[in-house]
Amino acid sequence: AVPTAVMVATGRGANYGILIKGGEALQRLENIDTIVLDKTGTITAGRPVVTDFVLATRDSDAARIQSTGLAEDHVLRVTAALERASEHPLAEAVVQYATGRGLNLPRAQEFESFPGLGVVGVVDGGTVLIGNPALMKKHGVTVEAMNEIAERMSEEGKTPLWIAIENKLAAVLAVADTIKPSSIEAVRRMRADGLRVVMLTGDNERTAHAIARRVGVDKVIAGVLPAGKVDAVKRLQAEHRVVAMVGDGVNDAPALAQADVGLTMASGADIAMEAGDVTLMRSDLTGVAAAVILSRGTMRVIR
Ligand code: ADP
Ligand code: MG
Repeated sequence: AVPTAVMVATGRGANYGILIKGGEALQRLENIDTIVLDKTGTITAGRPVVTDFVLATRDSDAARIQSTGLAEDHVLRVTAALERASEHPLAEAVVQYATGRGLNLPRAQEFESFPGLGVVGVVDGGTVLIGNPALMKKHGVTVEAMNEIAERMSEEGKTPLWIAIENKLAAVLAVADTIKPSSIEAVRRMRADGLRVVMLTGDNERTAHAIARRVGVDKVIAGVLPAGKVDAVKRLQAEHRVVAMVGDGVNDAPALAQADVGLTMASGADIAMEAGDVTLMRSDLTGVAAAVILSRGTMRVIR
């Protein structure tokens, strides 16, 4: 009777676009009490666009660049040139924005990527930094002049990217990603089913909280470096939580493997799908609560 019930359940799951890799994963789903959700690409669509671009003005050097009149295009051009060498979704948004404004992008040299922080390289003979305040701090760039603007962007749920040229703050741009409409209903369902919902992201606290408020999660863990996602899952497990992790990215794979059950978006990276126990074919979160309910029902039949 056991294999039959499991076969029926996995078949029913498949009808709803929930691919469960075997009976063991189905059984482990029953006891899940905490759902950890990656933000970018899981809660949000993962297709960010540039919404704001603000030049630094208080810094005297930036002001001098600006006085040429071509300042904005200049800063945007070198920024996008550097981001063209990056594979991050944020980088793609910046490149799209610049090419959409008709800018030709030179080739960047000495490109270096710092996961969870940003990118560094040389464009037109000048060193360019793009990333978060931690990256700026690492290179001795002061960000205070633009803090207020960046905070306002974050409050709106946008991610501010800081840009420095020759170690001087040059601009801040904001990138916004849309919340998948299905995410809000899916999180409500999970919570109604007694699950605790946690958002896990490398993005900054303020932006993460602005998005979390709209989605209605119980807890936010933000500013996590890619390697820190697996530690965050381990910490929840140490609190005797039985954890399901939902993610889509290459960065999520270790955390998906560490979780009691890993669920991945079919639209995500192959390595994430390999690390997961369940694939959500519809690439939205509505399948998560359904998978848990399916498991609970199946295990009740078996006993
Ligand atoms: P997420 O968890 O949302 O996938 P990441 O860990 O990939 O986030 O990135 C965290 C932060 O690092 C970003 O919000 C951004 O501030 C910075 N960052 C990472 N890659 C880049 C890049 N190519 N350009 C600018 N900033 C970047
Ligand atoms: Mg992601």
